[in-house]
Amino acid sequence: MRLFTTVAALRCYYELRRKGQNKSAGELNALSSIGLVPTMGALHAGHLSLIERARQENDTVIVSIFVNPLQFGPTEDYQSYPRTLERDRALCEQAGVDAIFAPTAKELGIEQGYTSCQVVPPASMTDVLCGKSRPGHFQGVATIVTKLFNLVQPDKAYFGQKDGQQLAIIRRLVQDLNFPIEIVGCPTVREPSGLAMSSRNQYLTPEQKEQAAVLYRSLQQAEIAFKAGERLAENLLEIVRQELAIISAVTVEYVELVEPNTLMPVEKIEEQGMIAIASRVGAARLIDNIVLRSRQPIVAIDGPAGAGKSTVARQVAAALGLVYLDTGAMYRALTWLVLESGIDINDLPAIAELASSCQIQLASSTGLDNPVRVWINDREVTQDIRTLEVTAHVSAIASQSAVRQELLRQQQRWGQKGGLVAEGRDIGTHVFPDAELKIFLTASVQERARRRQQDFEHQGQITLTLEQLEKSIAERDFLDSTRELAPLQKAADAIEICTDGLSIAEVTDKIIALYHKLCY
Ligand code: AMP
Repeated sequence: MRLFTTVAALRCYYELRRKGQNKSAGELNALSSIGLVPTMGALHAGHLSLIERARQENDTVIVSIFVNPLQFGPTEDYQSYPRTLERDRALCEQAGVDAIFAPTAKELGIEQGYTSCQVVPPASMTDVLCGKSRPGHFQGVATIVTKLFNLVQPDKAYFGQKDGQQLAIIRRLVQDLNFPIEIVGCPTVREPSGLAMSSRNQYLTPEQKEQAAVLYRSLQQAEIAFKAGERLAENLLEIVRQELAIISAVTVEYVELVEPNTLMPVEKIEEQGMIAIASRVGAARLIDNIVLRSRQPIVAIDGPAGAGKSTVARQVAAALGLVYLDTGAMYRALTWLVLESGIDINDLPAIAELASSCQIQLASSTGLDNPVRVWINDREVTQDIRTLEVTAHVSAIASQSAVRQELLRQQQRWGQKGGLVAEGRDIGTHVFPDAELKIFLTASVQERARRRQQDFEHQGQITLTLEQLEKSIAERDFLDSTRELAPLQKAADAIEICTDGLSIAEVTDKIIALYHKLCY
């Protein structure tokens, strides 16, 4: 692992890696995907969860450690903020980080008497919640994060849900300033008591830590009421306030209910709401939040090819009255449109343009044997997308990153309302990382080879030997889990079901039982 403190060294490292000059044995030739985890150091398990996620999803992981003076007010704890670089370095090394970028303030152009350019997010997002008592804080965050994005040029950047307002502002920054970066929000990591981990917890005595656990307890009380049907802000917030009031050592700064993306106040939760708290306990200012969603659940089914995902997903959707989001049909519809428009299959910019201006619609089929009905730009293409020509070109279209990004956007838009079952390779990790139920459906290579042989026989086709089929399935598994775009990944919170020896009905029943146990 490398440690850089200057912009020049970071740029040089990138340059060399791009050219593949400093690769050690087994290291990738190019910087094919870069994940950035911005931190202020004093790393704890919350930071490490972001690093772990970045490690899973990228070839190169960069952690920045920078206590950003721009985001501290004049009376805040900039001077006393914990700085533990040696320990952080060891933790990053253990976590498999490739490089730490730990510049000084001067190196990033922050000096007394010098006024640098600033990034100013909308006031509607910065003047609310923590912004009320921390003027200039989010402008300081947005400015430094923009600099880090420009320096590191990551494909993905990882932020914690614990800082919910910061996460919303960064998402907005990336959207409004067109950064080609995916922002990955990661769940809050907590102490066993429920207290959200934070570098500032170091300011607390053991007794204060116990007292501070009331923050999460109060949010949980609101969640219980929400699950029982309470939707009104005034009632949910009152529940939180009452619980907080039990511990007099906790001084509440605010408790509010806002829409998690826009941070606008919410009076009644229609789709989702974030209850956010800030409080003081002893010398520490602590924040926490919880996102409440009233959408119908999403079931994400991932797994290797041939494990029976699409059949099972269709049956689960039909049995639970959910929509089967046939993502394969979406890629087929776009492929049909490309062919219909006469665009060359290798003309990536033209296809990107077509993808970002098309509208795809899906409707649940009436029976299990009927395919999902599909429209693209208001034309029904349910039958057209099943032609040999579309089949022959669909994987070339689906491997184009602009296409995947656009269809991901459309899929996630459907996901906002919930009530769907989707299957693929990265649904639970990437498309719907907050799905209520995640299944990882597998079967041994031998079982899948046997099933495929049976399929061939049913279709009256000449079949390969079992050994040949096993070899090709194992090769496909390897390619699927190592490819750059949307590789097969098992989400950490997915439930694995091995379908060896189980019928489709048995697998479906298992998933339905899990749904009733975990979602309803
Ligand atoms: P900080 O070092 O406090 O600026 O935090 C760096 C990143 O780690 C931010 O994206 C935080 O939201 C995230 N983070 C901090 N604490 C936690 C936690 N307990 N769980 C998950 N993420 C966290």
